[in-house]
Amino acid sequence: MFQFTSGQGWQIGRIFGIPIVIHVSWLLVFAFVTWTLATAYLPAALPGQSGPRYWAMGGMAALLLFLSVLLHELGHCWVALRYHVPIGQITLFVFGGVAHMKKEPPTPKAEFLIAIAGPIVSFGLGAACLGFGIVNDLAGLRPDLHGLTVLGWLLGTVNLQIGLFNLIPGFPLDGGRALRAGLWAWSKDFYAATRRSAVAGLAFGVLLSCLGGSLMLGAGLHLLEASLITTGMWVAMIGLFLFATAKGTRQQAVFRETLARVTVSELVTPSVISVPAALTIESAVKGYFLPHGFSGFPVMEQDRLVGMVTVQDLQRLPQTLWPWREVRNVMRPWSAEMEIAAGASALHALEQMGMASLDRLIVRQDGRIVGVLTRSAVWRYLNLRTQGRSSSTVDPPQAA
Ligand SMILES: [Zn+2]
Repeated sequence: MFQFTSGQGWQIGRIFGIPIVIHVSWLLVFAFVTWTLATAYLPAALPGQSGPRYWAMGGMAALLLFLSVLLHELGHCWVALRYHVPIGQITLFVFGGVAHMKKEPPTPKAEFLIAIAGPIVSFGLGAACLGFGIVNDLAGLRPDLHGLTVLGWLLGTVNLQIGLFNLIPGFPLDGGRALRAGLWAWSKDFYAATRRSAVAGLAFGVLLSCLGGSLMLGAGLHLLEASLITTGMWVAMIGLFLFATAKGTRQQAVFRETLARVTVSELVTPSVISVPAALTIESAVKGYFLPHGFSGFPVMEQDRLVGMVTVQDLQRLPQTLWPWREVRNVMRPWSAEMEIAAGASALHALEQMGMASLDRLIVRQDGRIVGVLTRSAVWRYLNLRTQGRSSSTVDPPQAA
């Protein structure tokens, strides 16, 4: 299970309420797998068929392979949901699939079970498909069913490979997550466990890249079979990808640890300026947004907090209507997720902003509003604190 930054994709449906998204890169690998199966694998395994039949079977097998990947991810999701870890979406992309968990698992045990659920599904599917292939082979089924036997062997082998590959103990692969769960349970330090298992991910990334490179070199020099060039290329690419994601994970762990150790009260902008709900938008712009320079304000009505209004909320309304509409018409009405206690951690605040799609929270202390915490104030702090620890400026951490 990889971490994956979002990109272009199409949602093809929902399972357990989770959107299933196909990334553009998936189309490339789908075409590549179909082509390999139709032109090389199937003609060798199942001789004497017509070209179009190979292509049709190749396409079907490629679809079933991706269904296998989807089932692997759904295995993770099923356990994650039982532990109340929300899943943003499942993405299928060039290197397989990823389930985006919206927060970290609550305990090492939960993390371990979520991590191994995927490989367990893959091993189960692999055993079932191989079993089907073996039984068919032994029973000497009718030759017209031989195609199904070949498919059983193919799907069985690939599912076992998916299960085994994901057990490599380097974060963010499933094995690396299981490793983190173990380190976490042992050291009681989630962040140190994340950093260590990400270092293992870096190491396996380098190892796979070298292995892939050697395969390509060996095949290029005719020391190995020529077909190993493609295998080597895939292994090297996966190695590089693992290295890059593990590096990102390690950096994220540093950021998250930094934010977990600072409280909201240390980063709050002590602005208790609020906008009256009955004010026209025109007056709010002239009297609050322009002079104070903030891009959002709490909205009050008779000393009661009733919502929050931001520049984006104003922009949704044509300017010609600004003198005629009141702040209450465009504000986001109050909800519990708009507020955070001054004593909460900045990490908690950031996660709350992510879940509620807000870029500021109203900070309360002893029942009183003491100011606003903005996303940019959190970034600023992170940039100051992590300077020198990373070569570039800080990118917004993802919600797990
Ligand atoms: Zn997985």
